[in-house]
Amino acid sequence: MSRFWSPIVHTLSPYVAGEQPQISGLVKLNTNESPYGPSPHATAAIAAANGDALRLYPEPTGIHLRKAVAATYWLDAGEVFVGNGSDEVLAHVFQGLLNHELPLLYPDITYSFYPTYCRLYGIKSVLVPLDEGFEIRLEDYRQPCGAIIIANPNAPTGIAKPLDWIEALVAEHPDQVVVIDEAYVDFGAETAIPLVKKYPNLLVVHTLSKSRGLAGLRVGFAVGQRHLIDALERVKDSFNSYPLDRLAQAGAVAAWQDKEWFERHRDMIIATRERLTVALQGLGFEVLPSAANFVFARHPGHPGGELAAALRAKAILVRHFNKPRISDFLRISIGTDAETDKLLTALGEILG
Ligand SMILES: *Cc1c(COP(=O)(O)O)cnc(C)c1O
Repeated sequence: MSRFWSPIVHTLSPYVAGEQPQISGLVKLNTNESPYGPSPHATAAIAAANGDALRLYPEPTGIHLRKAVAATYWLDAGEVFVGNGSDEVLAHVFQGLLNHELPLLYPDITYSFYPTYCRLYGIKSVLVPLDEGFEIRLEDYRQPCGAIIIANPNAPTGIAKPLDWIEALVAEHPDQVVVIDEAYVDFGAETAIPLVKKYPNLLVVHTLSKSRGLAGLRVGFAVGQRHLIDALERVKDSFNSYPLDRLAQAGAVAAWQDKEWFERHRDMIIATRERLTVALQGLGFEVLPSAANFVFARHPGHPGGELAAALRAKAILVRHFNKPRISDFLRISIGTDAETDKLLTALGEILG
């Protein structure tokens, strides 16, 4: 606290990211990074972009990346917005599209950056409880609202909704923007991007941090009709004209275009997830059905906080949320097969 702070700073409750400790030999399964890293084409493109040209500002709109993403979905580059990680894209979405007279609706258990943005921008919101099975129910969103945001698959549950469910949600709210945060969609859900042509109220947000192995490069994007993208561009150009630097733009385009690398490593992560799920069940865990690059699991005999601490003592980091309804759970990112074996061995020892 300081008397020099602007009044709003006193009211903020900043997002708490998973820790990034600098400990060698650590098995790091706490922030849903890819265990495999980016395409070698991406690192080569970044190396090639590293040079004298760095004295020049980058292209301000990320046009090459926007074109590459648009081409994948048969869209126009004007229907794609790019930003410095999808967190920045989401920040502009909250400020530019989700702040209305009526409240924003989102699930009580979801990405914890959403309430953080609501505080930052003074957005009224109503948290809609997930049902007992941690599912989002369509009927619960049939209430007056200014906008809706949902992560699909949801985080930290990992549970995905099918595309016809998403379409029903979007179709039921023609006068509200519906944002689908698809940070984990590549690991087992179906993207809503093809619905963008049909629904002027749909915005879909993606990141290259998870399935493209580029959390360190900070690249995300949003897809929607022109009028929604225009709002994001207006906010962006009132904030930072050059959100994606030259290295990020070069690396992101190359990563996006390396379909073979992307699919191979995505499939490896899905296979490891399925193996981990079965093994955790064998150790007595209840594991929610995951369509993401993590699992959300609880053990009937051991609270989540206790297990997370015991794993940490064995140099294995997982995420525990000390929050109502989910404090029994661990969120475990999918690592390599070797990391998964270390995790399972450690859990076997801890559970005796
Ligand atoms: C990881 C994550 C993001 C943010 O990703 P960036 O690294 O900022 O691109 C957004 N939404 C959800 C649900 C996430 O889990």
